[in-house]
Amino acid sequence: MSESQFSEILTTIEQKGMSRRRFFQLLMAAGLLSAVNTEKAQAFSSKAKGKIVIVGGGAAGIAMAARLKRWLDKPDITLIDPSDRQFYQPGFTLIASGVYQPDDVWKKQEDCIPGGIKWIKDSVRAIDPVWNQVTTVANGKVAYDFLVLTPGIQINWDQVEGMSYDQLGTGNAHCIYDFQGAQKTWKAMQEFARKGGRGVYTDTYTKHKCGGAPKKICLLTEDYARKQGTRDGLQLDYFTAERDLYDVKFFTPRLKAIYKERNIPINLNTRVKGIDTAAKQVHFERIEKKDGETVVTPFVEDYDFLHFVPPMSAPDFVKEAGLGFSEGSLAEGGWVMVDKETLIHKKYSNIVSLGDVAGLPTSKTSAAARVQVPIAAKNLISLMEGKEPVEKYNGYAACPIVTDYGHVLLCEFDYNKEPMISFPFSLLDMSKEQWAAWLLKVYVLKPLYFYGMLKGYA
Ligand SMILES: Cc1cc2nc3c(=O)[nH]c(=O)nc-3n(C[C@H](O)[C@H](O)[C@H](O)COP(=O)(O)OP(=O)(O)OC[C@H]3O[C@@H](n4cnc5c(N)ncnc54)[C@H](O)[C@@H]3O)c2cc1C
Repeated sequence: MSESQFSEILTTIEQKGMSRRRFFQLLMAAGLLSAVNTEKAQAFSSKAKGKIVIVGGGAAGIAMAARLKRWLDKPDITLIDPSDRQFYQPGFTLIASGVYQPDDVWKKQEDCIPGGIKWIKDSVRAIDPVWNQVTTVANGKVAYDFLVLTPGIQINWDQVEGMSYDQLGTGNAHCIYDFQGAQKTWKAMQEFARKGGRGVYTDTYTKHKCGGAPKKICLLTEDYARKQGTRDGLQLDYFTAERDLYDVKFFTPRLKAIYKERNIPINLNTRVKGIDTAAKQVHFERIEKKDGETVVTPFVEDYDFLHFVPPMSAPDFVKEAGLGFSEGSLAEGGWVMVDKETLIHKKYSNIVSLGDVAGLPTSKTSAAARVQVPIAAKNLISLMEGKEPVEKYNGYAACPIVTDYGHVLLCEFDYNKEPMISFPFSLLDMSKEQWAAWLLKVYVLKPLYFYGMLKGYA
């Protein structure tokens, strides 16, 4: 299908001459077509040898296993991951807003791990990058020639005073960054819309996965209440640790306009210090620069419903292995010190890292991991062959910000925070929310995750 043909189709859709189901079918066809073409272009195989250990079998780890298995003639790959289940985490937002059922977002891990990969169902608790071995909790030491480090992000619940993972939901304080948490949020959101009151929504000051998620659940609550006819009973406030609501300028004006139109004030430069779940109060700090000095002003906000995001970092065992950045903005979270283009560790050249744990100056999303996988895999194979790695990652990340039940502001961008709109969306005005992007978010991305990305396709 050519771009001009697709353009015609989109015009027809915009005139509402075509059913959404038909458009969805075309979108899937275009996606598959482009995946097949990409695969053809990337047909590749190598006789390279070496024992590869992958730590963490989530979005990035399983996709790497599948990709390496396809590209290596005789792969020797061990995957270490403790989880029974593979979660499609972008679906947590849709569970928390009642669009998906909890069972829609996961599959058994054993069904996702590609055949021929040795799975050690265990957690890694230490890495020794000098002696090339990892230590597991129950299976002792595992040696490697090459390490793929993809254990994702650590959510530091306890760094919010008065909160812990076990307390999630207590005092109507919720967080969708967790499977159970998303389910509790949906129950609480419906009750909040019915009863009314004040809703406080926050993000966090550290790098965190899918920076759009807290904005999405705030807007979805507003839209849900509006659809229930109870919006007037709700006061909603958004608090962000950032200096602006969003840092990709192409999308920011419309996002801010949406918050304004929907009467949700935005409070900048604020971070959550703690939550008093008994009193239903959030303790904030406003952090501002005045005359070159950092001024910290504490303040307290009452809430009836709270959505908060805990600080996040690389997992402790990664930090303790000395694999993280030691200086610069990525040092605080202990994010893995990789070259931002090749994804190879800057000190240990037999380690590649990608996904949420990697110290990359872009957003932590599975869309980013999807693009990182073929680059990391090809570069790893080059290392195994003793060649110079040449593939380069441009920082592509995507965050579909769901603005209401039916529209998504599909933010795609690169390291320079310039928009990188994928076809066929490049034919629409993507600085605004689009219902075609909602169809992509709700119907297309999940099957593409389980049957495309995790199978080693682009
Ligand atoms: C609420 C929410 C909304 C999101 N929305 C979007 C979205 O709209 N679009 C988007 O692209 N992305 C979104 N994301 C982000 C996306 O899910 C992550 O960026 C992606 O999953 C990162 O992949 P990963 O492989 O690095 O980590 P993960 O997928 O989290 O996988 C990490 C794996 O490592 C394993 N592991 C952890 N510790 C150890 C250990 N010690 N030893 C061995 N294994 C270990 C875990 O069991 C897990 O299987 C969202 C995430 C959340 C939570």
